[in-house]
Amino acid sequence: MKVCKFGGSSVADAEQVTKIVNIVLSDPERRIVVVSAPGKRNKTDTKVTDLLIACAECALAGTDYESVLQAIIARYAEIQKDLNLPGEIIAEIERDLRSRVDGDKTDRGIFLDSMKAAGEDNSAKLVAEAFLARGVQAVYLNPRDAGLLMTSDFGNAQLLDESYANLATSLKREELIIFPGFFGYTKEGKVATFPRGGSDITGSILAAAIKADVYENFTDVDSVYPVDPRLVPSVKRGISVMTYREMRELSYAGFGVFNDEAVFPAVKAGIPINVRNTNHPDAPGTMIVQSRRVIPGGVVGIASSDGFCNLFVDKYMMNREVGFGRRLLQILEEEGVAYEHMPSGIDNVSVVMREKYFDPVREARVLKHIKSALNPDALVVERGYSLIMLVGEGLIYTVGMMAKAAKALADAGVNIEMINQGSSEISIMFGVRNEFRAKAVLALYHAFFTE
Ligand code: ASP
Repeated sequence: MKVCKFGGSSVADAEQVTKIVNIVLSDPERRIVVVSAPGKRNKTDTKVTDLLIACAECALAGTDYESVLQAIIARYAEIQKDLNLPGEIIAEIERDLRSRVDGDKTDRGIFLDSMKAAGEDNSAKLVAEAFLARGVQAVYLNPRDAGLLMTSDFGNAQLLDESYANLATSLKREELIIFPGFFGYTKEGKVATFPRGGSDITGSILAAAIKADVYENFTDVDSVYPVDPRLVPSVKRGISVMTYREMRELSYAGFGVFNDEAVFPAVKAGIPINVRNTNHPDAPGTMIVQSRRVIPGGVVGIASSDGFCNLFVDKYMMNREVGFGRRLLQILEEEGVAYEHMPSGIDNVSVVMREKYFDPVREARVLKHIKSALNPDALVVERGYSLIMLVGEGLIYTVGMMAKAAKALADAGVNIEMINQGSSEISIMFGVRNEFRAKAVLALYHAFFTE
């Protein structure tokens, strides 16, 4: 049995919804369909979720929301009309939206979540109609009826574990199930949403709950590419198979297809994930699996991400000072700053952090605290770093990979400021200044993929 999740671009208009119906009907194993809210039809379009947020903000501010509400209804009505579906569904969607927007606004988070969830909820009802119109026995299933329970962290809610048992029972149905992504219910019966992009999480949870053979994640790319096509436009061949660990390393450094946290439930349950393209359903896409046959030296992808900074602390005889590292990290902990990496020398240590969590005000407080608590000889913060990850299970078994990578970077004139290999056997991480990032990725791509 397969769980298929279709993202916003796959429900953007009638043509896309027709593709969903055809894709699902082409394989009898596809029994559960999770949908997002209608996304962008073109580059300048607005996602329904963003319209819903705008509408909710107007309602909260007490300003006129009618035109935004009409724009939202129009998105569904366009699909209904183009697919010749019964008009009653649009009346139902309008009733639903009006009752949400008229709802209790005393708690901003609760109100916003109820509005945001309307996007996927109505999308699922409409897609169910599209299946019914094709003579398919399909049913829209509400997450409350399915027992999908969430914590009360509105806008950033998490699944309650007992949901798995509920879902395993409620998803056993004869009909094709159309399930809205992105939200569930708290035990008090309030709508709560996952973080943005959370329909991927729903799909992954359902796949884990029913122990699906595959979790198919349909999006608008043929496969996951080994390198960002914006940095290397010549990249043609996608990744056919990679492991969960490789995915995690690649998405850590900015691989954008989907985020690894979203598919964690499927990963934990060992369900293979297949990233596929709604617009090219015949393309096999990328399989993400527990383990695969590894070719020595094989690199699966190169990811890169900017926005890192480095806190450099130097103190003579640091290696002999018991508790130095703990006290340093404790200062960061007290400021609520997470660190990413910590390469060290005998007398010095660098703490690599994301710049967005280390603003100048925090920085000033942290530096003052470190100076008084640790009395370092040197203390410097350097901003503007990029991390580049070369990832592949094949790196473990092969001699000379680091030499090959370092040579490629040297030949391209890239100055490497940091290297980290030891801890993760399947990746080599390079820290470079932002201005070297694109050059470095290109050089590594040529060394490992084209030569
Ligand atoms: N519609 C929601 C968003 O735009 C969730 C999703 O598409 O996965 O974030």
